Amino acid sequence: MGKLYAGRLIRRVVDGCLQMFGGTGYINENIVTRHYRDTRLLSIGGGADEVMGDVLSKIEGF
Ligand SMILES: Cc1cc2nc3c(=O)[nH]c(=O)nc-3n(C[C@H](O)[C@H](O)[C@H](O)COP(=O)(O)OP(=O)(O)OC[C@H]3O[C@@H](n4cnc5c(N)ncnc54)[C@H](O)[C@@H]3O)c2cc1C
Repeated sequence: MGKLYAGRLIRRVVDGCLQMFGGTGYINENIVTRHYRDTRLLSIGGGADEVMGDVLSKIEGF
């Protein structure tokens, strides 16, 4: 649950940062673009979000 939540939250946060930087955030290679790419791994690595959802759905009473 923590991994799924953190992955989704950080994507929202970094997306907001990139939006604030406007075209500079999108085009130039800088700390924002670096985080934009790197934080995607949290929702893919060690089991994608969809797989985490599968695992959670099998927990009784969840
Ligand atoms: C930089 C990096 C470092 C890594 N380091 C390690 C490491 O140290 N040790 C290690 O063991 N592995 C490591 N991995 C592998 C990582 O754990 C896998 O990439 C991850 O588990 C996803 O598997 P996959 O890439 O085969 O994607 P796939 O399993 O092919 O999934 C691709 C996409 O298909 C969808 N999908 C997949 N399964 C389901 C499902 N059941 N239901 C619905 N949708 C689904 C999701 O959208 C998913 O993002 C690393 C990967 C990267 C990119």
